[in-house]
Amino acid sequence: MEQSIQASVPPQVEERRAQRAARKAIGTEEGEKYSLAATYLKLEVYEPAAWAATIALEFDPRLVKARFRRGIARRNTFLYDGARKDFEAILRRDPDCQEAHQELEIVRGLLAATSEELEHESDDEEHPGFSDEAWESYSDSDSPDCKHLGIDQVAQPPCQAYNRGGCENGIGCPLGHAPDRKSVRDELGKNVCVYYLLGNCASGEASCPYSHDRNYLPPNGWWNYPDQVEAAKVIQPLVENRHTYKEVNKALRANPKARRFGARRHREEILENLQYSHSWVMEDARRVAAVDAIPQTTPPTERFVLLVSLEEDNFLNIHKHLMSTMKQRVRVVQVFNARQATTLLDSPHLVAVLATDAGIARRKYSALRNKIVGYVQNGGSILVAGSFSTHVSGTEFEKLTRAFGLPWTYGSYNRSLFSLNPVNEVASRNPSLVQSYSMKSLRVGNISPEQASLPQPA
Ligand SMILES: [Zn+2]
Ligand SMILES: [Zn+2]
Repeated sequence: MEQSIQASVPPQVEERRAQRAARKAIGTEEGEKYSLAATYLKLEVYEPAAWAATIALEFDPRLVKARFRRGIARRNTFLYDGARKDFEAILRRDPDCQEAHQELEIVRGLLAATSEELEHESDDEEHPGFSDEAWESYSDSDSPDCKHLGIDQVAQPPCQAYNRGGCENGIGCPLGHAPDRKSVRDELGKNVCVYYLLGNCASGEASCPYSHDRNYLPPNGWWNYPDQVEAAKVIQPLVENRHTYKEVNKALRANPKARRFGARRHREEILENLQYSHSWVMEDARRVAAVDAIPQTTPPTERFVLLVSLEEDNFLNIHKHLMSTMKQRVRVVQVFNARQATTLLDSPHLVAVLATDAGIARRKYSALRNKIVGYVQNGGSILVAGSFSTHVSGTEFEKLTRAFGLPWTYGSYNRSLFSLNPVNEVASRNPSLVQSYSMKSLRVGNISPEQASLPQPA
């Protein structure tokens, strides 16, 4: 995957790489399990790295390297307490691990310096514990029937004839031949009804679209163990009612005996998550490559404003007036990735940062956000503009303002007539500003009256 940091990778090649990475993430080979986390750490994408490390640990809770990598990833997403738990868990098993000692010391320092944790997430637990039982790998067979979802390869209702062993339509059948969340594949290739195995199929053998024959099921399935069947009954309504995987996962953690029943859903979630994160990781890598491919101009040696455009690059076109006015006064440098922004934030010539979209509010850019907070604490200024207010969520907005030590909350978004606030410092210093105008904007709540240049209309 490291090689794919090139400006252009054909989509099908990328797809194959993602699939290969997926196999690694859920594969059984010891050496491959934590390699995805390592790759993401190298690319400095910490949230997917922490996720990949957790998956590796679920398949082998004793992987010290995966736990160490998760600790590093968590530290970089401000989950200091979670990072502490990982390094402490390593040291409980291996008290002489010098790397873990060093990291633990760093994290303790960060915890002591942080009065309030920036993130309150449930994903900062030690889970899985070192001696927890490992997940087993799960796979449906690779046969074409197993992939036959039905017409147009969109999931269709199950084919009853197929599950009775007699569909004559073959690959032309409009109905599904593949196993799904409500069935288990048997050794004849029929899909056996999960409800039947749980003892609660409402259809009865004649009308159920799945098979009600348990004679050809694999020998070691959950259906042969009464305690696993009982545990499965707890998970089943969650799966059936299309609850989010978060809820399914919570129930699985509370009922480890339901794991084999939940294995298919667990793998689905891993693949989905992987496809999703993998695509944006690659997109970012491409952007970095594209920008780096442009011959570097010398770093600014005069005063400049830094435009940070992590998600959209249309700001210059939409705001031509603003840009030309600004460029008459000061040099403007626009960057499209976190790495370049991070470098330029250290420049002594930096006058202000202008975030042109909601990128800095995203968790995946939390390392950059931290850097900007430091810049502002040292007297720097940041402005959010462009598509920021359209694309930021309430939670992201409030996490961002808290990172800057502000109590501001996310308010309503609508059009009104706003007037300049005479007691506001910015407004009083700039008498040329238009006294009032109508605009559609995001209101900021819990802001002290003198801080708003355009206060909430009465
Ligand atoms: Zn059929
Ligand atoms: Zn049934």
